[in-house]
Amino acid sequence: MTWSVWRVSPFITGIFFILGVFTLYQVMYDELKTILRAKKIKVDEDKVNAYFGVTYMGIFIISMQAILVGTPISWQFMNFQLIALVFCAYFLNIRVPYYIFFPIMVVYMLFNGSIGYWESWCHGVTLVAFYSTLNMIRRRQHNDHPFLAYILSGIFFGSLLWFFMKIKFGFSMSTYWEELSYFVIFGTLLYSYVDMILRDSKLRMHLLEFANHDALTKTENYAAYVAEIRNLFDLSTENNLQLSMMMFDIDHFKHVNDTYGHLAGDKVLRHVADVVQTVIAENDPHVKLYRTGGEEFNVIFPGYDLQSTEAIVRQIFMAINHLDVKVNDKTIALTISVGVSTISKADLEPNDFYSRVDGNLYYSKKNGRMQITAK
Ligand code: GH3
Ligand code: MG
Ligand code: MG
Repeated sequence: MTWSVWRVSPFITGIFFILGVFTLYQVMYDELKTILRAKKIKVDEDKVNAYFGVTYMGIFIISMQAILVGTPISWQFMNFQLIALVFCAYFLNIRVPYYIFFPIMVVYMLFNGSIGYWESWCHGVTLVAFYSTLNMIRRRQHNDHPFLAYILSGIFFGSLLWFFMKIKFGFSMSTYWEELSYFVIFGTLLYSYVDMILRDSKLRMHLLEFANHDALTKTENYAAYVAEIRNLFDLSTENNLQLSMMMFDIDHFKHVNDTYGHLAGDKVLRHVADVVQTVIAENDPHVKLYRTGGEEFNVIFPGYDLQSTEAIVRQIFMAINHLDVKVNDKTIALTISVGVSTISKADLEPNDFYSRVDGNLYYSKKNGRMQITAK
């Protein structure tokens, strides 16, 4: 083989072409997710995946077909187009209702110059049925044989779709079987390939989640806190923005463990985190809770001065002090001690700020617990 003579069969080239198209898709989508995360833009990732996927595949289908429009071999890229459709319907599980699908189909037939052929209309209707069937199989994925249902529907609809093309273009029966078997092979390859990539991508997501979250309370952990306070401290000092922090520690928590056991203690910690998260969610989703120690938590308030912070701190304080956690018919009452402060021009490092908050918490403890020290 030389660069001027390509001796690889179109089938093999086709396989690598399809895998390349999906790999590029996955790489671009991962990059997009990373950018959105870095910019802290909160979006529904499934929706981004759906819109990005349908745009990408749309460009792919149209640009390939543009090469062949109006020629007697305009069916030649059909397997690639079917595979792109399978990807959107099954793997991205994008729901396209009939009333949107049909206009798209008509526009595509106009573009393709095939609107006057009854075979193309039958082909279009079969495509809609294929798409909906794949959507349905995907939705019922909890059945035991998702691959079998997937491939059987591929064989059934693939046979019909290629049959209409055979009638319209009059190619031979051997071409028909060849194209149909290529479609089934491509579909099988796509299934195992996407499955593999998604598993890998899910694993990475899990690891990331694991690295930043506390397994017990599901709040963000100390590592996430350190990264975020560094980030916000720099941002706030550079741009002269407000930044406040609350730190709290459950009073006599050792007593809870000693009296009711560690499992009860764990339940209390989960409950406390849930209550604080609820109060925060009711006020401002930009405020964040971190579990920074055993029974110590930090709450960061970006853009808040001392006064506006104290309003939410008081709500958290009241909510915990009125919280009764039930463990084995017993009721555990809780109190917390709190330290609050805001950044000052004299702070050179996040730890200078942190030390003041910590000092205020220590003061609350020393001064009799169950109180807030804010200065
Ligand atoms: P203070 O009012 O001075 O804060 O007293 P305290 O008893 O709360 O403080 P101390 O630091 O003596 O005890 C904290 C306890 O928190 C000790 C430790 O066993 C417990 N603890 C830390 N992490 C966990 C956890 O994940 N689960 C449980 N059940 N207990 C924990
Ligand atoms: Mg404590
Ligand atoms: Mg403590």
